[in-house]
Amino acid sequence: MRKSVVAIVGRPNVGKSTIFNRLVGERISIVEDIPGVTRDRIYSQAEWLNHTFNLIDTGGIEIGDEPLLVQMRQQAEIAIDEADVIIFLLNGREGITAADEEVAKLLYKSNKPVVLAVNKMDNPEMRENIYEYYSLGFGEPFPISGSHGLGLGDMLDDVVRHFPQLDEEEDDEETIYFSLIGRPNVGKSSLVNAMLNEERVIVSEIEGTTRDAVDTRLTKGDQDFVIIDTAGMRKRGKVYEATEKYSVLRALRAIERSDVVLVLIDAETGIREQDKKIAGYAHEAGRAVVIVVNKWDTVNAGEKTMKEFETNVRAHFQYLDYAPIVFLSAKTKKRLHTLIPAITSASENHSKRISTNVLNDVIMDALAMNPTPTVKGRRLKVLYATQVAVKPPTFVVFVNDPDLMHFSYRRFLENKIRDAFGFVGTPIRIFARRRQ
Ligand code: GDP
Ligand code: GDP
Repeated sequence: MRKSVVAIVGRPNVGKSTIFNRLVGERISIVEDIPGVTRDRIYSQAEWLNHTFNLIDTGGIEIGDEPLLVQMRQQAEIAIDEADVIIFLLNGREGITAADEEVAKLLYKSNKPVVLAVNKMDNPEMRENIYEYYSLGFGEPFPISGSHGLGLGDMLDDVVRHFPQLDEEEDDEETIYFSLIGRPNVGKSSLVNAMLNEERVIVSEIEGTTRDAVDTRLTKGDQDFVIIDTAGMRKRGKVYEATEKYSVLRALRAIERSDVVLVLIDAETGIREQDKKIAGYAHEAGRAVVIVVNKWDTVNAGEKTMKEFETNVRAHFQYLDYAPIVFLSAKTKKRLHTLIPAITSASENHSKRISTNVLNDVIMDALAMNPTPTVKGRRLKVLYATQVAVKPPTFVVFVNDPDLMHFSYRRFLENKIRDAFGFVGTPIRIFARRRQ
C-alpha cells in the first residue's frame, strides 16, 4: 500500500538535512557497501508512533546553478507535487526572510497541508520569539531544535494528523506491480508502449493513485499486471524533471510500489555509472529484479555477443547475480515476448514459500557437505531454519551464536537454497538468530 509522503522545504542551512537524518534514523544501507554506489540522502522511510511514512529532503535535490530564489521555488514545487504534507522549516535565529515569504506564498496557493517548524530553538528563552511566525498564515508554528532533538514530537503529531486516508487498491495480491527504471533515453517509454501494443494484451488506464501519476493495467492470459508510472515516462514539461536527483527520487518511489523492477540498460551506449546506482536502489529495496538490455537491434547480435554482453553485465552488477537478463528491442519488438515470462517468474519466486521440512532437508545436506566453521576455537552450530517472510523470501537460521555465522557461510547457505529452490529474479535474505 502507498505510504504518506512528507517533504521538508526551507532555505539552505535552516537544518533540513539535520531533521531528515534524525527522523530517518540510522538505517543500514546496503547500497553504501557497493563500490561506485553512493546513497543519496533525499528520500527515506521514517516512523512516528504507529505511522510509517516517506520523507523527502528537497534540499538534497540540487537544481543546477540557478539563483537561490529559483532553486527554492522549484524545491517547493517538487514538494507540492510529491508530498501529502509539507514541513516548512525556518531558522529561528534569523527570523522570516524575503526568501521565506516567497516560498510561503507558493505553499499557501497549493492548498497542501503545511506544518510550520522553526528550527534552532535550542533553549526555552528563544521560544518567546515564536509568535512572529504566526504572520506567515500557516497556523501554529512549532519551535524545534534539530540538533538537540527538541519539539520534534509535537511537530510530528501535527504532521500525521494531516495524512490522507489512502486507498487499499494496491493490496491486490494477484496482480503483479512492476516499474521500469533507468537513465533518461534508455527506452523506458518506448518499452512500455511496445508492451501495450503487443498482441493479446488488454490495456486499461488507472487514474492516479498518486496525484498526476497514471498507472496502466494490462492483462495477458489470466495474469493482471500494473505498470507503475516513473519519471521520464510521462513527461509533464516541468523544469526540474530533467535533473538527475529528481529522476532518482521518482525511481525510488516507483521501486517502492513494485513487486518487480525492470532495470533498463542501453545496449548501444553500454553500462554507465548511473545505471549501477539506479540498479543498487532496486536491490536494496528487496524487490524482484529483471535486467533488460534494450536497443538490442543496434548490436550486431549473434550468440557470442549476447554471452559477452552478459559477462559484462554480471561484472558490473555483481550484487544482482540473481536477476535474469533479457535482451530485446523496444523498437523492432525483437525478443519482446521473452519479457512477460521473465517478469512473471521473478514475481512468483519473490513470493514463494518453502515448507520448513523441505528447507531443513536442504540445510542438513548442506551442513553435511560443508562443515560449519570454527571461530577462535568455537564451532558454529546450525539447529534449524525456517522461512519467515516473502517479498523477498526471508529465512531465519537458528544457531548457537549468531556471531559465528560469517558472511561466507551465509553465502554458502544462500547458494544451497538457490540450488534447491531456484529463486531466480529475487533477492533472498538470511538472518541468524540465537537458540540454545
Ligand atoms: P540544510 O542546508 O537546511 O539541510 O541545513 P543542515 O541540516 O545542513 O544544517 C545547517 C547547519 O545548522 C549545520 O551546521 C547544523 O549543525 C546546524 N543546525 C541544524 N539544526 C540545528 C539546531 O537545532 N540548532 C543549532 N544551533 N544548529 C543547528
Ligand atoms: P526514456 O527516456 O527512457 O523513456 O526513453 P525513450 O523511450 O524516450 O527512448 C529514447 C530514444 O531511444 C528514442 O529516440 C527511442 O526511439 C529510442 N529507442 C528506444 N528503444 C529503442 C530500441 O529498442 N532500439 C533503438 N534503436 N532505439 C530505441
